[in-house]
Amino acid sequence: MQAEYMLSVVIPVYNELEVLPEFHARITRVLDGLVLDSEIIYVNDGSGDDSLSLLSEFYEQDTRVAIVDLSRNFGKEIAMTAGLHKAEGDAVVVIDADLQDPPELIPQMIEEWQKGYDVIYAKRARREGESAFKKLSAHLFYRLMRTIGQIKIPEDTGDYRLLSRRAVDALNTLGEQHRFMKGLFTWIGYRQKAVMYERDPRHAGESKWNYWHLWNFAIEGITSYSNAPLKLASYLGLLTALGAFSYGLFIVVRTLLYGDLVQGYPSMIVIILFLGGVQLMSIGVLGEYVGRIFNETKRRPLYFINNFSEPRSRRGQAAE
Ligand code: UDP
Ligand code: MG
Repeated sequence: MQAEYMLSVVIPVYNELEVLPEFHARITRVLDGLVLDSEIIYVNDGSGDDSLSLLSEFYEQDTRVAIVDLSRNFGKEIAMTAGLHKAEGDAVVVIDADLQDPPELIPQMIEEWQKGYDVIYAKRARREGESAFKKLSAHLFYRLMRTIGQIKIPEDTGDYRLLSRRAVDALNTLGEQHRFMKGLFTWIGYRQKAVMYERDPRHAGESKWNYWHLWNFAIEGITSYSNAPLKLASYLGLLTALGAFSYGLFIVVRTLLYGDLVQGYPSMIVIILFLGGVQLMSIGVLGEYVGRIFNETKRRPLYFINNFSEPRSRRGQAAE
């Protein structure tokens, strides 16, 4: 019997050999329990290990499996995008391969989708296996985005989501190179709903995120959604100009009253260094934006596909 709706599951995969067997077992168990048809779209993001051959095994065993093999490692955001482009389901779930996002949450997400929500995001009630510093920096980042970004990204939320067809279509129209997906998911709007869950520590393998990556991720998020740093640079400039003007006035008055004392080497050096620092920093901020404009104007395709193995269930009639 063919179900009325189809669910696509998109999984970005980068060197996940250790977790994939367990992940695949759990996701298929969940999907088997659904009344919907489904397809499992693995996006191999240029893995350096044998992840791809393992995925090929899944492909042979299960007609629902599809593999998008990217030409190199493009990063998770692009890998997700590639998967979303290939997904044909009425609803699409985006989930990590490392089992930090429990697949068992999918039925609950589907329930909300059937109530008419378009974006159902998993909100973690608790973070385990992560350092206090990572928790704090994540918290501050979300706060910052809510304050200066023009979009309110829900806090404690990863990329684990269920998207309705029209939400996916909306995302697919966005062709920007700098894809801060968490922001884009929110930016498209529509009716959004949270589903709470407890985030588990990584099942096996290592997170590819170090602090440098997180820092760059944060810059990406801020510069993609907010001009606040540019404004900050202008205000900083205004403030220092005001300070310089007042100090200049003070110098003039003092010189008139007491004559030119030829002093002030320390204050001069401090002012020169301070102004130099402010200027360099402001140029740096400008540079961040110019660099992004540069990348966008090249209008390059977001990724290249080495090979796309469509789910066999798509071509044949529905399985069984
Ligand atoms: N991933 C990817 N490309 C990359 C890095 C990661 O496709 O360049 C995938 C990875 O295989 C996993 C998901 O993105 O399925 C989340 O990665 P990770 O667990 O390293 O990130 P974290 O959970 O620490 O945010
Ligand atoms: Mg992870």
